[in-house]
Amino acid sequence: MAVIENVSLAPYSAFRTGGTCRYFWQPESIEEIARELPQLAGIPFYLLGAGSNSLLSDTPWPGMVMQFDKLATCEPTDTGFLCGAGVANSQLAEKARDRWLAGAAWMYRLPGQLGATIRMNARCYGGEISQCVDQVTTVTPQGQIKIYTVSPDDPTPVFRGYKDTIFMQNGEIVVQAHIQLQPGPLAPIEALMERIEHDRTGKGHFDFPTCGCVFKNDYAPEVSVSSGLLLEMAGSKSMKTPHARVSEKHGNFIFNHNNASSEEILTLSLDMREAVWQEFGVWLAYEMELMGEFPAALLARFREERPPQHKKSRLAEARARFKV
Ligand SMILES: Cc1cc2nc3c(=O)[nH]c(=O)nc-3n(C[C@H](O)[C@H](O)[C@H](O)COP(=O)(O)OP(=O)(O)OC[C@H]3O[C@@H](n4cnc5c(N)ncnc54)[C@H](O)[C@@H]3O)c2cc1C
Repeated sequence: MAVIENVSLAPYSAFRTGGTCRYFWQPESIEEIARELPQLAGIPFYLLGAGSNSLLSDTPWPGMVMQFDKLATCEPTDTGFLCGAGVANSQLAEKARDRWLAGAAWMYRLPGQLGATIRMNARCYGGEISQCVDQVTTVTPQGQIKIYTVSPDDPTPVFRGYKDTIFMQNGEIVVQAHIQLQPGPLAPIEALMERIEHDRTGKGHFDFPTCGCVFKNDYAPEVSVSSGLLLEMAGSKSMKTPHARVSEKHGNFIFNHNNASSEEILTLSLDMREAVWQEFGVWLAYEMELMGEFPAALLARFREERPPQHKKSRLAEARARFKV
């Protein structure tokens, strides 16, 4: 087990923020994870993929970060690919295109790694990872290797709907998955990838360090409008701090504009959520995840829950705008 001490985490964070961790481990095999995990003897650990959905604390963190860059094999199978947790989403889409396999093009230019993408059931451009995974291998915190067969008939499904999976609750580490794809004509695969490239770059997704959408969408029938639009209508696009600001093109994206700290980004996000609450009575759920230690007052605000107090006429206005 090769562990490095006192590693700076900012290069592993899509926001390019974050302090150091005491121990940093990039496991090279599933067996290594299963063998070493029980030896950690109570050392707290965090899992980190490409850090594109995470905000890492500024203060040094006394625990271990397990990062998956070295678990990135992507082997062709008869029906798809057998992938390690560290395979980049976009790379998987490219490999599928090269074999004329349909079903993975939506992952093109989706930041992040497969392990975290499965954990949160990521989705975009009409695709969702639940639609193309037929087997997931995990390691439990106790070091047990488990294999899940994904089936729509499963009474206790792995994927539980919009950005929700059992792995978000049970703390198991996604270490490998089989991606099941279908032979398809090349032209529509390439067309979708081109559309995504155009759309994401046009919307400025890669202009500054960011973790993408800070908040999930709220699909309650009384809301049913993207959180980006609610945020925009609540004035988020003009919200900023000295070093971070909301994207002018997307009300749900925070950009690290000029060496922002994670604390600054968290504070800005809390103010965005408050603005939507005041305007619409909708309490947005965070998609962005926190890793490490944050000041207690900020954490308390982050964890606060409020039952909805929907402002129906304002939400109707938003829905009307959403449909146009
Ligand atoms: C510009 C931009 C655009 C984006 N657009 C979208 C979009 O359209 N749709 C969408 O769904 N998301 C989007 N995202 C978010 C991001 O791409 C996804 O959430 C991605 O799946 C995160 O992968 P990651 O490896 O970077 O996760 P990380 O941020 O490293 O980790 C996220 C969470 O998963 C946990 N984790 C990491 N690896 C594992 C593992 N192997 N097993 C179990 N848990 C693990 C971490 O502890 C953390 O809790 C966007 C992000 C950016 C920066």
